[in-house]
Amino acid sequence: MIGLDDSSLFHEACLIGGVWSTASTGKVLDVTTPETQARLGSVPMLDRTEVAGAVAAAHDRFSTWSRTTAQDRAELLRAWYELILENARDLGRILSAEQGKPWAEGIGEINYAASFIRWFSEEARRLYGDVIPSNSVNRRFLVLKQPIGVVALITPWNFPAAMITRKAGAALAAGCTAVIKPASATPYTALALADLGQRAGIPAGVLNVVTGSARVIGDELTENVLVRKLSFTGSTEVGRQLLAKCSQTVKNVSMELGGNAPFIIFDDANLDDAVQGVMASKFRNAGQTCVCANRIFVHDAIYDTFAAMLSKAVAELRVGPTFAEGSEIGPLIDAAAVDKVREHIDDALKKGATVLTGGGLHELGGTYFKPTVLANVTVDCAVMNEETFGPLAPLIRFGHEDDVIAMANATEYGLASYVYTNDLNRSWRMAEALECGIVGINEGATSTELGPFGGFKQSGLGREGSKFGVDDYLEVKFVNIGNVR
Ligand code: ADP
Repeated sequence: MIGLDDSSLFHEACLIGGVWSTASTGKVLDVTTPETQARLGSVPMLDRTEVAGAVAAAHDRFSTWSRTTAQDRAELLRAWYELILENARDLGRILSAEQGKPWAEGIGEINYAASFIRWFSEEARRLYGDVIPSNSVNRRFLVLKQPIGVVALITPWNFPAAMITRKAGAALAAGCTAVIKPASATPYTALALADLGQRAGIPAGVLNVVTGSARVIGDELTENVLVRKLSFTGSTEVGRQLLAKCSQTVKNVSMELGGNAPFIIFDDANLDDAVQGVMASKFRNAGQTCVCANRIFVHDAIYDTFAAMLSKAVAELRVGPTFAEGSEIGPLIDAAAVDKVREHIDDALKKGATVLTGGGLHELGGTYFKPTVLANVTVDCAVMNEETFGPLAPLIRFGHEDDVIAMANATEYGLASYVYTNDLNRSWRMAEALECGIVGINEGATSTELGPFGGFKQSGLGREGSKFGVDDYLEVKFVNIGNVR
């Protein structure tokens, strides 16, 4: 159905210890495509014992994988990266079929996902320890960096490839082995990536993929003492539950959770650039990213001009089927996603906002939603306080820099933020004042494998990508050598 050049990349089985496995009960979970709601296939519904089997496979392999040379791990990751690029067309088709994003964007995500594997293949050889100047002539102090152990990686549906490679690349570079639980809506990209990892020569048991009930798998991965770390990307709500569960076995955790990104446009900004920035930040993946602009603060002096410019650009976005040529906005992931956007629009309209463009379901039906701009939104609206995760851009007026900083920081989240200004001093003040992990200054697309990704406050713990990303998978060991004569 998906039209792959290499149909063997499509797996309806889990990868455990190098073996493609089904559930002993025969139970499966259906996967559908947001494009037409048609069934794509199914994946196994593993029980807890089978998930524990995947952890055991990763644990068995850890003793040898953790002792491979950095050079060997780097070369295996590089081979995996090259296979991902060679198969980008097929991977993009699988990704877009299960996730819904336009195919061109799907292939774009595959390239982005591959960039993490390349980056970590390079970083693998640079995981230096330290020699600490001693305070005694007879003692020597060293710091070793060692892999944490078996890591559990739980990932969301909005980036079915990149959220896996950003974690797995770092984990494998560090010498950890992994059990991956992809989102139930998007398991096939994960399984295809793992297949390519095997083809690249990554040993059996280093990369395992399990599917089934999120709760059953989550319970096993958080309670099993052999799992030494959990890295999770998803909602703050589920992140809190997983954090609580991990406390029982004191696991190391990395959490990439929700956001409520402010996008601030000052009256001295280049407005064409600001429109482009909002389009990139707000409407990528139909607004379903955790770094999406969620609240757009526009200075009073340029509010009307900017609102007209943005509405025109948004009205020109091409909403279309995932695999149709030229589609820019695909379907939302499911009906619940549509309901949330609708609720945020209805709530804002009740509180005095007005629709500048869009405002409801698209004529294509299903879960296709018209890209929407709302004007005169106020701070008491739900859209100001919750992540919409859809193609809705609410515009809020502001007058003074201090006021907008206070409004931008008035949220439990702190992932990304965006500031458009041509005042150098202001850009420094804003970058320092915003309580969040990522600031785009005159830039709407901040994500890159080169920069640290992660949040302040309830947006998360830890950093992914960049030179900081591997640290999350390494223990620091102090070696104190005495009686040196
Ligand atoms: P999103 O819907 O944005 O992907 P979720 O937090 O609901 O965010 O899901 C993120 C990932 O966490 C998915 O793989 C999902 O299946 C998984 N998940 C959801 N609930 C649980 C849970 N109770 N335990 C473990 N994993 C869970």
